Amino acid sequence: SADSADAVLLGLDPEQREVATTLRGPVCVLAGAGTGKTRAITHRIAYGVRSGQLMPASVLAVTFTNRAAGEMRGRLRTLGAGGVQARTFHSAALRQLQYFWPKAVGGEVPRLLERKIQFVAEAGARCRIRLDRNELRDVTGEIEWAKVTQTVPADYPVAALKSGREAPRDLAEIAQIYGTYEQLKRDRGMIDFEDVLLLTVGILQDRHDIAEQIRTQYQHFVVDEYQDVSPLQQRLLDLWLGERDSLCVVGDASQTIYSFTGATPDHLLNFRTRYPQATVVKLVRDYRSTPQVVHLANGLLNQAKGRAAEHRLELISQRETGPDPVYAEYADEPAEAEGVARRIRDLIAAGVPAGEIAVLYRINAQSEVYEQALADAGVPYQLRGAERFFERQEVQKAILALRGAARSGGNDPLLDDVVELGSQVRAVLSSTGWGTEPPAGSGAVRDQWESLAALVRLAEDFARSRPGATLADLTIELEERKAAQHAPTVQGVTLASLHAAKGLEWDAVFLVGLTDGMIPITYAKTDEQVEEERRLLYVGVTRARIHLNLSWAVSRAPGGRASRRPSRFLNGLRPGSAAPGATAGSAAERGVRGRVRRGPVLCRVCGKTLTEAGELKLMRCEDCPSDMDEGLYERLRDWRAAQSKEQGLPAYCVFT
Ligand code: ATP
Ligand code: MG
Repeated sequence: SADSADAVLLGLDPEQREVATTLRGPVCVLAGAGTGKTRAITHRIAYGVRSGQLMPASVLAVTFTNRAAGEMRGRLRTLGAGGVQARTFHSAALRQLQYFWPKAVGGEVPRLLERKIQFVAEAGARCRIRLDRNELRDVTGEIEWAKVTQTVPADYPVAALKSGREAPRDLAEIAQIYGTYEQLKRDRGMIDFEDVLLLTVGILQDRHDIAEQIRTQYQHFVVDEYQDVSPLQQRLLDLWLGERDSLCVVGDASQTIYSFTGATPDHLLNFRTRYPQATVVKLVRDYRSTPQVVHLANGLLNQAKGRAAEHRLELISQRETGPDPVYAEYADEPAEAEGVARRIRDLIAAGVPAGEIAVLYRINAQSEVYEQALADAGVPYQLRGAERFFERQEVQKAILALRGAARSGGNDPLLDDVVELGSQVRAVLSSTGWGTEPPAGSGAVRDQWESLAALVRLAEDFARSRPGATLADLTIELEERKAAQHAPTVQGVTLASLHAAKGLEWDAVFLVGLTDGMIPITYAKTDEQVEEERRLLYVGVTRARIHLNLSWAVSRAPGGRASRRPSRFLNGLRPGSAAPGATAGSAAERGVRGRVRRGPVLCRVCGKTLTEAGELKLMRCEDCPSDMDEGLYERLRDWRAAQSKEQGLPAYCVFT
């Protein structure tokens, strides 16, 4: 009914409401982080369904990660629009491919290749080209890039040259390995991640009957994180759409962080050219983060260059003032991890739930030292998001084992065992090779262990909440959860890479290892690559709702040479740093041995450098709103004054 549909619009601002109620024709939302893009499209679908204008089964919502898709499905259910498909491009394509394979190709549906790197290594060996570990990873990356840009092996060298990519090996060699890799897969009846999209696109292109069948099913398309759509994904979207234009896309060009896989914000930025009749909506109110966090995010954007940066939108925080971002410099990496773990413990003690805290890093290898430090500090953590929990192989195997055990007389209540921490469940899992102690280090083995540990926790929570429940009851519960795609809620601190943090948010975010060389990462050489690194930092900063901690270590190991500098992206933003482009010796910015330089005064709201005396006093430019906490300006000004008097900073210093 109209009333019940209108209720969905209550939690939206006027611009978001426009998005939600424009159900016809192409719609494009260009807006910065935390402005409610994802919320607007979720409510749009719910509004359309509840007002009877969209049939749930005719809508396909595409998000970037499985976790985001799961969250969207959950919200849609809550909003009364269950039954709408919310998937990643990949999972939507895989379903279609499996469904249409017998009709389009015939025979067995090929199996999905899981260890791609091994196949690439084998292909290299066949070509008699030796690759070390790094080269193997990079060549695999090149093959992925070639595939998503629809470049066949023979065309790879020219395409790679044109794109200005820095190839890890001779281009002809890579092309040869790529060709052999494709052959190997075909011979063994396997497909890789990229093939899923390539084959689906191929089938939809060639078989008009199948394309029509899909178009009859899906009438309306919604795409989140559209700035990171690859040419191949765009092609698939075009095939789904056909001649129709019921398409709603949302994105933020400043968050383009997957260019290395062929993604480009061009589709987002050119949307209006392609669809002149499109409704274009801009959102600028940031509902996620405090003015302090937004100020830093705006400062980062102000220094950005390139096409994406030309389309940036200043964010205006809607939240109450919070604590200033904390910048912390440490002597070495273990000290940094220890310091971060300590601050996390303090936050938890102060009432911030562990599940509302994240530690984000540039590359996965950085996680290990944080795992160690958090474990030492007794802080629970989870290594990756709870995405696709029930689809993980180890979890499926474990559930199968539990079901087997339930059949052969598992009718004893679970609860008795739970007193000794769930020995019945643990015994069954042990039989699948799971040990109660986590394996050392990180990586796949550790991830698998964590998955099963989460399953044990889930089983034990269930047993506690349902006295008298049996193993058979547990397996039913697990099946139900699997069907509902509900992952167990692991109340731990999230450890994730910046790339994986996209679209998510936490009360407290720790951005760690922020040295020049890590972000921008050493292999980012071209201006474009460096800009993408800056956007990655922007994505990281904008994940925080309230607490934001930025840290780095000046040397890697204890006693090492203090040769590292904080990320250049923080110049002019971090207290005590010179503005970018300033020629003052960068050693002076280091803060360890050098003197602290006084940075320029920036507008607290938009980050613009201030020169007018009146503006300087307020630390806010005339163009920006004045509903800011004056006390905060005062404190910051005092702090800056005190800081300029200081002779230097200790190796471990925290700016607050
Ligand atoms: P990102 O670019 O990082 O993906 P986004 O634009 O998709 O961000 P959302 O995740 O949709 O932003 O929203 C950010 C936060 O703000 C969420 O917690 C959301 O619930 C909240 N929010 C969005 N719009 C409103 C609103 N009108 N009123 C209150 N809260 C809102
Ligand atoms: Mg979003």
